[in-house]
Amino acid sequence: MPTGFYDRIRAELKDIDDQGLTKPERVIMSRQGPEIRVQTAAGERGVLNFCANNYLGLGGDERVTDAGRAAAERWGAGTASVRFICGTLGIHKELERAIADYLGFEDAILFAAAFDANGGVFEPLFGEEDAIVSDSLNHASIIDGVRLCKARRYRFANSDMGELEDRLKEARAAGSRNIIIATDGAFSMDGYIARLDEIRALADRYDALIMVDDCHATGFLGPRGRGSYAHHNVAVDIVTGTFGKALGGAMGGFICARREVVELLKQRARPYLFSNALSPAVCGSSLEAIRIASGQEGEGLREQLFANARRFREGMAAAGFNLLPGEHPIIPVMLGDAKLAQQMAARMLDEGIYVIGFSFPVVPRGLARIRTQMSAAHEPRHIDAAIAAFTKVGRDLGVI
Ligand SMILES: *Cc1c(COP(=O)(O)O)cnc(C)c1O
Repeated sequence: MPTGFYDRIRAELKDIDDQGLTKPERVIMSRQGPEIRVQTAAGERGVLNFCANNYLGLGGDERVTDAGRAAAERWGAGTASVRFICGTLGIHKELERAIADYLGFEDAILFAAAFDANGGVFEPLFGEEDAIVSDSLNHASIIDGVRLCKARRYRFANSDMGELEDRLKEARAAGSRNIIIATDGAFSMDGYIARLDEIRALADRYDALIMVDDCHATGFLGPRGRGSYAHHNVAVDIVTGTFGKALGGAMGGFICARREVVELLKQRARPYLFSNALSPAVCGSSLEAIRIASGQEGEGLREQLFANARRFREGMAAAGFNLLPGEHPIIPVMLGDAKLAQQMAARMLDEGIYVIGFSFPVVPRGLARIRTQMSAAHEPRHIDAAIAAFTKVGRDLGVI
């Protein structure tokens, strides 16, 4: 037996726990929605959920669930194949067409997850003569995708346009063939929306491409919910996104781009070539979610979502909490200390509100927080109950 291996793993786990950084899994015994049932030490109980990426409330929606069931009946559980062997079903082509049309692109390619889309997008398109200029707060999957690619790497401080311009100058001076700026459309830990209008202007000045990861934007930001670039009314070259958040909440990722880019990705992107096709149930649910989000009903859902975000922000600010500013339905309640964030989340659950404390390595050390997320499915009484519970627990713990 390799000496010390298991001891070392246990010591590492203990170290994580001593720092208050352990992330336990809370078991949920119901469908996703604003009101869910969770397992606790004292048994199962109903709580209000404020930590899902269920922005439009379509996770658990009867029509989305039914569409998934119908697709499973028509197409089976799955393909037992990657796409290029015998894993491309009619419903995959339908979903690629639907997401490309919705987001305003020529074509799209599906992945098992947005994590895979980001992991597979750079390496086929950029070589060592090229440069990737990446925001420092980009999602872990973009960081991994950049690591897998041979292009030169440049990094700028989150949304710092001065630094972005410096990096673009450096990349140009280094003789880069192509330069791509990679950014989250909305930064998941802070709820900040990328400054894509300014990024567009810099990209034009330095002849760079733009890639946006719109996982926290597709379906609800901007006109018709088409995302962060639509919010800023600018065009971008490549969008990666997920069906696991606003668009039904199942799972699965995609890349939208020009036809030739999608064609090359279908030849070369490793998570696409070497991983199973999306299951038909996921495709069916996602198609129904796109139909709802892109249509008239989507307008009402987005209105409700942003009204809920405003109501929560105003109530929490009035109670004296330190919130990160913005308009996104991600609303972080800043606490600083990791243990305090854990303790507060636990006390909130006792009050019937399910929220999660975020700490290192998900956010920087010393910037622990409770990240709340609003949904179109929340009713005003849900929001008010959350504010009341935060206020009570916040006073008890000396936060306000
Ligand atoms: C959630 C998220 C992902 C991963 O999406 P999956 O489809 O769950 O793999 C990637 N990027 C960002 C910005 C995200 O928020």
